[in-house]
Amino acid sequence: NQTAAVIGAGIGGIATAIRLAVKGYPVTVFEANTYPGGKLSAFEEKGYRFDAGPSLFTMPQLVEELFILAGEDPREHFTYERLPDICHYFWDDGTWLTASANPDQFAQEVEQTLGEPAAHVRNFLQHSAFQYDITEQLFLKDSLHKASTWLSRKALRGYLNFPRLGVLGTMNQANEQRFQQTKVVQLFNRYATYNGSDPYQTPALLNMIPHLEYNIGAYFPKKGMVSITESLIALAERKGVQFRYQSKVERIQVRDGKAVGVVVQGQEIPCSIVVSNMDITPTYRKLLPTEKAPERTLQQPRSGSGLIFYWGVRREFAELGVHNIFFSNDYKAEFEHQFQYKTIYYDPTVYLHISSKIKKDDAPAGGENWFVLINAPANEGQDWDTIIAQTRQAILAKVSRSLGVDIEPFIESESILDPRSIELRTSSYQGALYGTSSNNRFAAFLRHPNFSSRIKNLYFVGGSVHPGGGIPLCLFSARIVAGMVPETSS
Ligand code: FAD
Repeated sequence: NQTAAVIGAGIGGIATAIRLAVKGYPVTVFEANTYPGGKLSAFEEKGYRFDAGPSLFTMPQLVEELFILAGEDPREHFTYERLPDICHYFWDDGTWLTASANPDQFAQEVEQTLGEPAAHVRNFLQHSAFQYDITEQLFLKDSLHKASTWLSRKALRGYLNFPRLGVLGTMNQANEQRFQQTKVVQLFNRYATYNGSDPYQTPALLNMIPHLEYNIGAYFPKKGMVSITESLIALAERKGVQFRYQSKVERIQVRDGKAVGVVVQGQEIPCSIVVSNMDITPTYRKLLPTEKAPERTLQQPRSGSGLIFYWGVRREFAELGVHNIFFSNDYKAEFEHQFQYKTIYYDPTVYLHISSKIKKDDAPAGGENWFVLINAPANEGQDWDTIIAQTRQAILAKVSRSLGVDIEPFIESESILDPRSIELRTSSYQGALYGTSSNNRFAAFLRHPNFSSRIKNLYFVGGSVHPGGGIPLCLFSARIVAGMVPETSS
């Protein structure tokens, strides 16, 4: 009797459940919260709707793929649109730039506004595409922990192109070589934050990230980011997956070197395979306390976390778009504060996402739903209440200065998420948004594989394991896991 238990209904867990159900497994997903989605969830406050976590959506085909796999037409269940602008950038000296989604137009804008030759931007984006293309097969689509991956033709292409991939220098070094203008370096260095890393440490290989937005496209789901979770939950249910909420898994049962069940509220539920979508560190520490843990892997430094203010703002701002950035005057100092001093710099870069710009019913008429995120260090017991109070004032001052309007009087609702509450709500170790950091060139190899080499029938999916955090990579991890799970005999 082959059955699968999935621990956690984060995006990685839901996608795995769909894939296993399609493979013929009866699947039960155990979720600790009362709601699905983990970080990818939503809430409402005083008429404003907020997506609680992710706001940047790339590679929608990875979501669509799940519907197609299940024999359904994705357009009937999940719709999205391509954003005409990638981001509105603001600097304290009054410079601003709207980054068009059209790469040629964007390159022209950079030349006109920031004085960087358009050809430099075009060459960068071409190189970004090259880096992505070479690494996708090796790093994202397959397990790094199977010999077959390293012996493939794609791998050979990777070896031949190794010197051009940007594994040895840092992202900032590569961008300083490529661009003359510090604002352009800063604009592209920012992409390190897409997986919670530091551009002054992370390898230049991560310059492949802008390719996803500029060459493939930045998107937004018509019903909000949470509709990714909602539409996939509905799909999973149509495929027979059972979701059990408020069902925290306490143990993974192991007998004779095999995972044989999970324990929920003291009761053992037998199954033939277990997939943990819980962060890898608490999976070992809490669910497998008597098994030998891979200490070196678990001790890798965490990616950055976030401090998020959800503000219902009773006013509209024509100069703002769906995604906005107000840059710090000293980017290097900002990352030093985040990763070395483990605190938040007094002049932080502010990311402001306003979904009501595109999805009008997300805010009452005349208002905007502001999701304001500051990169924060992972939780190591800092004095968060003081940091939050200081950072709130810094954000208000910075954004008010840029927009020429005192923002605070227009805020009519406020909720806050910080590294502590992220950890509490999703069990992410230290509240990291993207599992372990990519701040060293071996990070990809030090992430935990998608299977256990000691315990048979035990698999791992989601942002804390290979290939890493963020929605697209979590969806890749589900694909890799499903590829490893044996076929059902039925
Ligand atoms: P998680 O979302 O971590 O969920 C894990 C689930 O498992 C939770 O529901 C938890 O309750 C459950 N669980 C844990 N332990 C147990 C247990 N013992 N028993 C039962 N259930 C358990 N990504 C992007 O692509 N774009 C973005 O713009 C972006 N921005 C972000 C902004 C914020 C504020 C945050 C928080 C994250 C952001 N991310 C972004 C990252 C992205 O949200 C995550 O990488 C991704 O959603 C993680 O999915 P996951 O599958 O690892 O599961």
